[in-house]
Amino acid sequence: MGSKEEMMWLDGNLVAMKDVRLPFLTPALHYGLAVFEGIRSYDTPRGPAVFRLKEHLRRFQDSIRIFGLQELPYDTETLHQAVHDTIRANHLRECYIRPLMFMAEGSMGLDIDSMKASVGIAVWPWGNYLGEESLEKGVRLMVSSFTRHHPNVSMTKAKIAGNYANSVLAKNLAVRSGYDETVMLDPSGFVAECSGENLFLIRDGKVYTPPKATILEGITRDAVITLARDLGYQVVEEPISRDQLYIADEMFVCGTAAEVVPVRELDTRTIGSGRRGPITRTLQESFYKCVHGEGARAAEWLDYVKLEDQARIAAD
Ligand code: PMP
Repeated sequence: MGSKEEMMWLDGNLVAMKDVRLPFLTPALHYGLAVFEGIRSYDTPRGPAVFRLKEHLRRFQDSIRIFGLQELPYDTETLHQAVHDTIRANHLRECYIRPLMFMAEGSMGLDIDSMKASVGIAVWPWGNYLGEESLEKGVRLMVSSFTRHHPNVSMTKAKIAGNYANSVLAKNLAVRSGYDETVMLDPSGFVAECSGENLFLIRDGKVYTPPKATILEGITRDAVITLARDLGYQVVEEPISRDQLYIADEMFVCGTAAEVVPVRELDTRTIGSGRRGPITRTLQESFYKCVHGEGARAAEWLDYVKLEDQARIAAD
């Protein structure tokens, strides 16, 4: 980005990021009263393209509804345009995109109906979350001693900021124990997901992943399932136990920030050959081709940012 000022969208306007300051008594800061999304834009031969923006904005609205707001602050159309404008204003081709709805004003009690919501969108260049080398080498995981949310305690379908305290506890325990990420079990003891990714295993040529009930319905998870089926693999969504992971032929995790990353070790056990497996590699390649504009699904899933508008935005 060089010396250019970083811009963000805030409640309808593009503003300089450095000028945005929150008062200490912002309710969102105290109780995690915020809802967010994580989206990526990729460079393609036709310019920057946002991967599955429609689905991400739908989940954003769904999260807000689950959180319990009566009135959604902005419609999908407005947010869609805002994402495009923010990317253009920052002259980025590949970036991570972070929409956030947060309770910005109101009482310091817990009654959200007495609060006012704001929405912001920031973008920044962000390499692979688990490290570029993880894409080939794979990551090491441990099963967490922290349980994933009980679906009647914290809503697993919503990206509510406060829910992420659970992910933070699990992730930090794993990293401080020398691992890259962590597998979280649901309250019944079955495999749920990682602190910020969904999880897949491969056994005898079939692809398995936990069912939706107690996990975040990852948009990358859905993309991987669809691409795998397009390639002729059988994909099974069924409860998975911890020891099924230990004896998997291959394992990988996926998410917007991490993308598609092989797992080489879990709880000190080597997974498969200890290297990226052949099916993981095929699915990974298919994913990266798609996000960069190749293949039939790219037409369906990529939302191209029109660069000819760039000059107009810069001049505004
Ligand atoms: N699970 C959790 C807990 C997450 O935070 C994420 C990241 N959003 C995912 C799964 C993957 O979801 P997606 O592919 O939509 O980014």
